[in-house]
Amino acid sequence: MMGTKISVYLWSDDAEAGRVALEEVFQEAVRIDRLMSTYRDDSEISKINRLAAKKPLAPGKELYQLIRQSLEISELTEGAFDITYDSVGQHYNFRERRRPDGHIVELERENIDFRYVQLDAELETVHFQKDGVRINLGGIAKGYVVERGIGILKARGIRHATVTAGGDSRLLGDRRGRPWMVGIRDPRVEGEVTISVPLENEAISTSGDYERFFDEDGVRYHHIIHPGTGAPAGGMRSATVFGPDAVMTDALSTSVFVMGVDRGLRLIAMLEGYESIVIDADGQVFYSDGLQEPDVLAEE
Ligand code: ADP
Ligand code: MG
Repeated sequence: MMGTKISVYLWSDDAEAGRVALEEVFQEAVRIDRLMSTYRDDSEISKINRLAAKKPLAPGKELYQLIRQSLEISELTEGAFDITYDSVGQHYNFRERRRPDGHIVELERENIDFRYVQLDAELETVHFQKDGVRINLGGIAKGYVVERGIGILKARGIRHATVTAGGDSRLLGDRRGRPWMVGIRDPRVEGEVTISVPLENEAISTSGDYERFFDEDGVRYHHIIHPGTGAPAGGMRSATVFGPDAVMTDALSTSVFVMGVDRGLRLIAMLEGYESIVIDADGQVFYSDGLQEPDVLAEE
């Protein structure tokens, strides 16, 4: 779903109740995908992309709020996170190894700027200030699925669970008396875990240059776009962020990837409750300040 694998793991004393809870989480993911997929012409997002440069549109409270939150994160990250990246992003097809040529990147780059997305808080409308602007919530939607999924499980009285959508997870409670161990994979060796982190009641997201990519003439073209250049962000292999909320960790892992080691870790240091582990282009690992104690991490 959403171009990725969604998995749910839970404990329930009642097998049937557990199955119903699982089913409800998957249904919710289907609903969110319908709302936010840019691959569906009939999604609310596609409608916005078709029409919002012509007139203000009211996409409904849920989508309006996610768009508003995305713009707030753009401010917070000084534009590293920017849902208008899609004017360039739409020209990539990683499965078919297709990418925009330099000319198209030059043109479409002009349409990337979250400030072109104008909101009306009263009417809850979205209006693009420029033709050619497009938005895509791919950098935050999976975190949203995870948060909603955990919300459903909690409401059903489940106390120990994990919900994962691609590189985004949230853990509910602990693993019945022990912490959950979450692995950060080696960005260059599939199936290898570089670092394991013990976590309880937390969200964790990883953005990497190995999720959706192709290599051409020694250059890796991947799915995280630097809004300033319109090209895939360089300098990093993966950025992991953990903290209390999966929507935030999802957006922040993408942001830290774009911002690079120094700026990225400085941003995380400012945010209460959030920590980060990044692996740069040389494979060197860096930790945010709160993770310095050696016994917090079990490096393999
Ligand atoms: P994953 O999709 O593997 O969880 P990320 O969380 O890093 O990975 O999100 C990457 C996705 O975010 C891309 O596929 C794209 O949809 C979107 N995206 C790419 N660049 C940006 C950016 N600069 N700002 C916001 N979203 C972006
Ligand atoms: Mg992300």
